Amino acid sequence: MFDLLIVGAGPAAVSCGMVLSSAQGKAYMETKKIGMIAHSKASDLKGAILNNLYGVQANTKGKDLLEQEIENLSKSGKIEQLSPEAITEVVAKDDYYELKTENNAYETKNVVLAIGHSTKIADIKGLEEYATPHTKSLPGVKKTALKNTNLVVRPGLYVAGLTSDCASQAAIAAGTGADVAVQLMTKWNDGAFDHHHDK
Ligand SMILES: Cc1cc2nc3c(=O)[nH]c(=O)nc-3n(C[C@H](O)[C@H](O)[C@H](O)COP(=O)(O)OP(=O)(O)OC[C@H]3O[C@@H](n4cnc5c(N)ncnc54)[C@H](O)[C@@H]3O)c2cc1C
Repeated sequence: MFDLLIVGAGPAAVSCGMVLSSAQGKAYMETKKIGMIAHSKASDLKGAILNNLYGVQANTKGKDLLEQEIENLSKSGKIEQLSPEAITEVVAKDDYYELKTENNAYETKNVVLAIGHSTKIADIKGLEEYATPHTKSLPGVKKTALKNTNLVVRPGLYVAGLTSDCASQAAIAAGTGADVAVQLMTKWNDGAFDHHHDK
């Protein structure tokens, strides 16, 4: 049983993983088993040339950044990298979730879905009831988000990035991933607010 599975490999998923990974020295993190399904094939970042992302050199290819950041996160050691397959079903159990891919099934107490804004996310079994038209897409472009309140779809099920209905800028997507990480740290810290800074 995982404590958390992060699904996705774009700025939202990786930022969530980076914040949690950086907090691994905290007492409550010692017992936490975190996994990531870093399916990267469909990230919007792949087609980007970045000239407006804080901390990133001008003219950086989104494809290169994507690969580099997944590799950096993998090296951190705290996040177990699982087979990077697309998820096909999210089954809500009483107090945990079962995530299914074509070849695997995983049990987890918490899930972060950072799976972009393709209309295909409405076809993932178990998510149909939460699918809603994305409200921050350009006119005429059909995209999908998952209904949420402050990034929470239902207890233990979080969304980040484009899936949460945020605007399509990498900095905004990354920010929502970091926000979910802080929400989880606070939850695991018995509800007392927590975040993590290194000095
Ligand atoms: C052509 C183009 C140019 C852009 N240029 C810029 C720019 O200059 N500056 C800027 O700030 N932003 C730019 N963007 C926007 C930026 O790429 C997005 O805002 C950002 O990638 C959103 O991050 P995300 O993590 O929410 O989603 P994504 O990066 O789209 O990541 C979603 C992840 O979910 C995975 N996934 C999807 N379905 C499943 C599934 N069923 N199971 C498991 N995983 C799944 C995908 O493979 C992917 O890894 C550009 C976008 C495009 C398309």
